[in-house]
Amino acid sequence: MDLTSSPGDDAFRAEARAWLRAHVPARPLPSLETAEGFAAHRAWEAELAAGRWSVVSWPERYGGRDADIFRWLAFEEEYYAAGAPGRVSQNGISLLAPTLFEHATEEQRARVLPSMARGGTIWAQAWSEPEAGSDLASLTSRAVRTDGGWLLSGQKTWSSRAAFADRAFGIFRTDPAPAAEGRPHRGLTYLMFDLRAPGVTVRPIGRLDGRPAFAELFLDEVFVPDEDVIGEPGQGWRIAMSTTGNERGLTLRSPGRFLAAADRLVRLWRETADPADTALRDRVADAVIGARAYQLFTAAGASRFAAGGEIGAESSLNKVFWSTYDLALHETALDLLGADGELADTEWAEGHVFSLAGPIYAGTNEIQRDIIAERLLGLPKGRR
Ligand SMILES: Cc1cc2nc3c(=O)[nH]c(=O)nc-3n(C[C@H](O)[C@H](O)[C@H](O)COP(=O)(O)OP(=O)(O)OC[C@H]3O[C@@H](n4cnc5c(N)ncnc54)[C@H](O)[C@@H]3O)c2cc1C
Repeated sequence: MDLTSSPGDDAFRAEARAWLRAHVPARPLPSLETAEGFAAHRAWEAELAAGRWSVVSWPERYGGRDADIFRWLAFEEEYYAAGAPGRVSQNGISLLAPTLFEHATEEQRARVLPSMARGGTIWAQAWSEPEAGSDLASLTSRAVRTDGGWLLSGQKTWSSRAAFADRAFGIFRTDPAPAAEGRPHRGLTYLMFDLRAPGVTVRPIGRLDGRPAFAELFLDEVFVPDEDVIGEPGQGWRIAMSTTGNERGLTLRSPGRFLAAADRLVRLWRETADPADTALRDRVADAVIGARAYQLFTAAGASRFAAGGEIGAESSLNKVFWSTYDLALHETALDLLGADGELADTEWAEGHVFSLAGPIYAGTNEIQRDIIAERLLGLPKGRR
């Protein structure tokens, strides 16, 4: 692993820092889990895109800068250090886009990616169903062949941002026969659909603070044209698995986010703490050490990736790490703040609510530990 940066890398970082300093809103935007905040964050995506900072690692023809993974990591560090807004386009940029780069046609990329890059189309992930979470292959929503496309029916749930988003991507059962024969991973198809198409009902679900962070989607013969199928019909599982590596691994939670949060925690400690409280001080120090450790661990993974390796089962290590780390960091912040820390609408309280979900979304940590045990450590399969 080589941690030295080239003069070009330093210039890239300096350019990003200067742009962010000039453009990051002086006051935090309203929560993106509200209609008003969603619109404000969408406008921020457009501003980022106008500066060509919304998708730095993408090819230039789709609005990116062709930056390599190390420059992307540097950009993320600058982004969070500048206190820039959370990314409302994240589902599209971190999950759908890598899938399109790997599996879509050039026509699909040209049609979908530029609008995603500028926040023109905000995407929701429609994978989970009421009876299909960890055991995603048990999904029952179906797509039935029709003239020129498919008709979707069924129910999806826990779809983040779907209360306000424009389109969704999901997997649907197109051939029920393999599941009936005990092979549920087969006969699935990956496709994109419009959340405002006839036959779609979006029902928001409130989270702890009542904000509609998620939605349930009810689909009743929703037409999807053939051009919105990603990859071959029946290959949905294989395609979906390349998405999950991105979700758990590098792209969803970059170290920059935690380095910036650890810095904020140190500032909070200086402003609020009793220096005699060594137990709390040690937890703050642990947060700083954890952020640095995650930065180095990620740099090692990025080096392997840049040398031609894949993001495989190691992404489960990242996922367990960042989710437990994020929760510990926010609990430390709330303990520093005392009872006031629980009040809604503080950055720490909002971050805490979100960190509570970290061990669940992107595949629960119990499942990640099974993957680590079986695929990385070679331990025998547990009893399920
Ligand atoms: C904040 C948040 C955002 C989300 N956003 C989205 C989204 O945008 N799109 C989307 O499609 N989904 C989304 N989800 C859903 C998420 O992917 C699921 O909640 C997750 O996959 C777990 O599924 P489940 O809730 O059905 O729990 P279950 O799968 O029913 O699991 C319940 C418990 O049993 C454990 N368990 C289950 N099976 C095993 C096993 N074999 N071994 C050991 N333990 C096991 C689990 O780890 C868990 O603790 C989101 C969830 C959250 C919390």
